[in-house]
Amino acid sequence: MRVLVTGGAGFLGSHLCDALLAEGHSVVCADNLLTGRMANLEHLLDEARFEFVEQDVCRAFDPGKIDYVFHFASPASPADYLKHGIETLQVGSAGTLNCLELARQHHARFLLASTSECYGDPLEHPQRESYWGHVNPVGPRSVYDEAKRFSEAVTMAYHRYHQVDTRIVRIFNTYGPRMQINDGRVIPNFLWQALRGENLTVYGDGSQTRSFCYVSDEVEGILRLARSAEHAPVNVGNPTEFTILECARKVIATTGSASQIKFEALPQDDPKQRCPDISKAQQLLGWEPKVDLESGLRLSLEYFKKAVAKDAAAAR
Ligand code: NAD
Ligand code: UDP
Repeated sequence: MRVLVTGGAGFLGSHLCDALLAEGHSVVCADNLLTGRMANLEHLLDEARFEFVEQDVCRAFDPGKIDYVFHFASPASPADYLKHGIETLQVGSAGTLNCLELARQHHARFLLASTSECYGDPLEHPQRESYWGHVNPVGPRSVYDEAKRFSEAVTMAYHRYHQVDTRIVRIFNTYGPRMQINDGRVIPNFLWQALRGENLTVYGDGSQTRSFCYVSDEVEGILRLARSAEHAPVNVGNPTEFTILECARKVIATTGSASQIKFEALPQDDPKQRCPDISKAQQLLGWEPKVDLESGLRLSLEYFKKAVAKDAAAAR
């Protein structure tokens, strides 16, 4: 297949490009580099089956004949989407519409990267796909949550009205190499701080929970969904839940750092608990994650150590 990956210069998108190329497909990556980096794609630039197009997907474009669209373009870290609030709403609305139009015109299949944020600060736990969520539609996080909820709605509409063959993956907190070290998400923040001997910043009292999925598990789940015939949303994430305080302690233990923990203010509308119910993915896709948090942190260490060393060299 010839596959379009939007947001392919980002963390998840670049791993997806690697996996699609490894399966023998040709890949066109469209990215405006808002939060992504060419460094994530450097190893692919000499690959004949790979093309990079610097492109804002909110503007109409035509990548030529394509068979599958993986729509991953969107800021994803709370720090990034709070900084780029309007752009986040634009890529989730105009950007998603453009990508669905491309899929319709080329008779291509379409997969939307959606998010556990669609559940907001959930009142149902763990979250099943049938839960409609508890989202503040006018709070600071609404630029992301509502953009993704709109993206899901318009994806279902293109499926219902135009018979586009669509999929929706609800991705839960995923981490690993190629995350921006300063993107503000909890694992890169903690690894960065621990490796530099700084105190780890736990927001609130650290009792809020998240469930962390290593990137290779996430990409495998996404590819299995892409091959399935399921049109309704499917959760793909790791169902082992940690408090943020436990996560900080795991990072300190894995890095062997002498860092301590310091407590800072909890951001507004920060979800108190988040954990996927993955029964649907297990039954439908025969998928479940294999990499636990400790192993995933170890697999990420080399990348983060190099990034810290590079930053220190640049500061000299
Ligand atoms: P990322 O910020 O590393 O990657 C996003 C990419 O999209 C970047 O390369 C950025 O430059 C690009 N982009 C943004 N706006 C664009 C536009 N208008 N046109 C073209 N490109 C644009 O984030 P990520 O963690 O790799 O997330 C990728 C996708 O997965 C996002 O859609 C995100 O919502 C979703 N997701 C990720 C997670 C996670 O834990 N990593 C969780 C839930 C959902
Ligand atoms: N968090 C934290 N310290 C940090 C960064 C994040 O305590 O340095 C917390 C944050 O408040 C949230 C959780 O870690 O409760 C996960 O945050 P992240 O930004 O990774 O993603 P979210 O799941 O909120 O989208």
